[in-house]
Amino acid sequence: MKIIAIGRNYAEHIAELQNERPEEPVIFMKPDTALLRHNEPFYHPAFSNDIHHEVELVLRVCKEGKYIDAKFAGNYYDAIGIGIDFTARDLQNKLKAKGLPWEIAKGFNGSAPISDTFIPKENFQDVKNINFDLQVNGTQRQQGNTSLMLFDFDYIITYVSQFFTLRKGDLIFTGTPKGVAAVQVGDKLRASIEGQNLLEFEIK
Ligand code: MG
Repeated sequence: MKIIAIGRNYAEHIAELQNERPEEPVIFMKPDTALLRHNEPFYHPAFSNDIHHEVELVLRVCKEGKYIDAKFAGNYYDAIGIGIDFTARDLQNKLKAKGLPWEIAKGFNGSAPISDTFIPKENFQDVKNINFDLQVNGTQRQQGNTSLMLFDFDYIITYVSQFFTLRKGDLIFTGTPKGVAAVQVGDKLRASIEGQNLLEFEIK
């Protein structure tokens, strides 16, 4: 399986990092070794002093497809979970400044904790109006709603599938809202969709 992620998909997050607003989705990938499941702790790596949390909704791909037409895009994911796109911001900024790929700042071990539970798509009245949030040590740090995405789920599926064949079991991180910040050893993170806690783990 592969993990595909969308960058710069919420305007206020683009502004907080002083990035340019993209005309097409910004795509990157993480290896499957980035996955962290079952609320396992995240071990803060020594190579960074600035690991940021980015809470994101995650689509679970349910069938193989490429060059997917927009009107069928919704058939290619069947459930939505929540995850953290951990980012070594210090490394990323250094690489970005040199115009180099920032893979290692995004794809390192454990950089993709995800919820064990994925909510079936049909349980949502409107996938363009889903609330999600992240609490750190009991305080809300990030809060998002899918109505604020620059590129919606269907557009992401269509766009990504022009370049990468999607396969059953692939995961797509769909971008983070504003409020990203560094995590510290000892922090407890809790991510929820519509108030339902789905992911809870500690930084060690
Ligand atoms: Mg992200």
